[in-house]
Amino acid sequence: MALLEILKYPDPKLRRKCKPVEQVTPELKEFAANMLETMKSFNGIGLAAAQVDRLDRLIVLDTRRPEGDDAEARYELGGETELEKKITQPLVLINPVIKKKQGKTTYNEGCLSVPSYFEVVERALLIDVEAMTLDGEKIAFQTDGLLAICIQHEIDHLDGKLFIDRLSPLKSSRVKAKIKKFGYPDPDEDDGENDVTDSHIEL
Ligand code: ZN
Repeated sequence: MALLEILKYPDPKLRRKCKPVEQVTPELKEFAANMLETMKSFNGIGLAAAQVDRLDRLIVLDTRRPEGDDAEARYELGGETELEKKITQPLVLINPVIKKKQGKTTYNEGCLSVPSYFEVVERALLIDVEAMTLDGEKIAFQTDGLLAICIQHEIDHLDGKLFIDRLSPLKSSRVKAKIKKFGYPDPDEDDGENDVTDSHIEL
């Protein structure tokens, strides 16, 4: 397995629209495994192929809450919902489509392509999803909680959209201008005192 390089905003490659996967090949399976490894190595809970410079409609997710003292602080939505518990994770979804959205929820989102920036985004609360698995099987399920938020965030990536596009126009342009001006903190120079990523999660 290998770690993949994650593209960062404002890389224009993140704006490309991904194409449906027509066939699950051994190479695609290996790529999905590399995506999961990459996501975990950065403590992310979701990753879309678009973020690692590949234009396939494929996302990986693992939103299971960790055990431990900081779990509650990091996962402000609390424990897994009953619907989330029904889904076996980590999850690899090929050609995911949201067939139905219900209700609204908000979450302080981050993104591995926009590291160390966090903003509250509104998403649907409950979603009906259809996708294909790595075994080529079609699946359909309904979910909510952090998993539903993360799936919506990752599908946005497949359409060239970032969570910072979903803020109010004023806030969106402020955040984008700030990133373009100051860039991202260097993880190697992290002194641990001002580490936002310790208390939030990136999708
Ligand atoms: Zn993201």
